[in-house]
Amino acid sequence: MKFSIQSRRDAQSNELMGLAKTYLQDFGLIFDEEEPEIVISIGGDGTLLHAFHRHIHRLHQVAFVGIHTGHLGFYADWKPSELEKLVLSIAKKEYNVVEYPLLEVHVQTHNNESKTYLALNEATIKSPDVTLVMDVELNGNHFERFRGDGLCISTPSGSTAYNKALGGAIIHPTLQAFQITEMASINNRVFRTVGSSLVLPAHHNCALIPVSNQQFTMTIDHNQFVHNDLKSVTFNVANERVRFARFRPFPFWERVHDSFVSNE
Ligand code: NAP
Ligand code: MN
Repeated sequence: MKFSIQSRRDAQSNELMGLAKTYLQDFGLIFDEEEPEIVISIGGDGTLLHAFHRHIHRLHQVAFVGIHTGHLGFYADWKPSELEKLVLSIAKKEYNVVEYPLLEVHVQTHNNESKTYLALNEATIKSPDVTLVMDVELNGNHFERFRGDGLCISTPSGSTAYNKALGGAIIHPTLQAFQITEMASINNRVFRTVGSSLVLPAHHNCALIPVSNQQFTMTIDHNQFVHNDLKSVTFNVANERVRFARFRPFPFWERVHDSFVSNE
């Protein structure tokens, strides 16, 4: 079996990477950064986001597993002290694969260029310097004219990241859904938005349509883009999914508890 390792590149992560590589090669596994079947991410959730985007074109052929060298992560949920156990499970192929839904983002410009992205956590759209104004359509029907700082459209597994900081709900990643969360909407007697986060099922879509020729900043996970010529951005649950190697049960709600409520 072929594996690769993505490190956050701090001293501890690099040391663990060296150990993991030696152990796995001792078991006869092959280090292959181009076409690994398993990718071990060592660092934090941010490190796993990088690993995900590196292998985004071959998601059905790869499973990810994360070790956290800082605080417990949602994707990086193995402790450094569990490395040997992890290596043994990989060598013996004693693991299950769980799949989480992803967000598909389709960007269209006025001169008919289009581009599709996949997000593991979320996409955000903001307008630098001025209030963002966009029409929000749900399944082709006008829903509201949004004015405010921006919108965050997240996956279930990304719901504990930026979305949570914005007051969005935490969504269990077995649900095939995506969530639209407002950033500081303007609400008064003239301007009105729904105010709550919306959770949409698979096969629904949300389109954001600029009202004027604004400049927009978009993010897809940790990557940022600037758009001057945006016609529309649509969002839906992607057909592709991300696969995680699971060596022991660590239920999502326990990760939520241990990350946000108490680690005792
Ligand atoms: P970063 O600024 O280093 O990451 C921000 C924090 O989000 C880190 O503590 C990271 O954990 C954590 N995180 C990432 N994915 C998560 C998840 N699914 N559930 C819970 N926490 C998660 O930037 P980055 O490492 O490149 O990550 C980009 C992400 O940062 C974006 O996808 C967005 O979700 C998040 N972000 C959050 C805010 C906010 O909360 N106000 C603002 C902008 C961006 P680690 O320390 O383990 O890496
Ligand atoms: Mn980070």
